Amino acid sequence: MKSLKITNSKFLKVKCSKCKNEQIIFEKAASNVNCSVCKEILAKSTGGKSKVIAKIIKEL
Ligand SMILES: [Zn+2]
Repeated sequence: MKSLKITNSKFLKVKCSKCKNEQIIFEKAASNVNCSVCKEILAKSTGGKSKVIAKIIKEL
């Protein structure tokens, strides 16, 4: 029996350290998340909770 576990995943508002762009990212992204402006890596995928490289401003 397969059941999808509901986790309290959340979104994070981060600020790119390079260009100061603010972007909302998913905490458990399946792949690396890049800044939409300068392509700097904001978060690295680890298979679970992303390793956030950018500065976290706020949890949503
Ligand atoms: Zn950037």
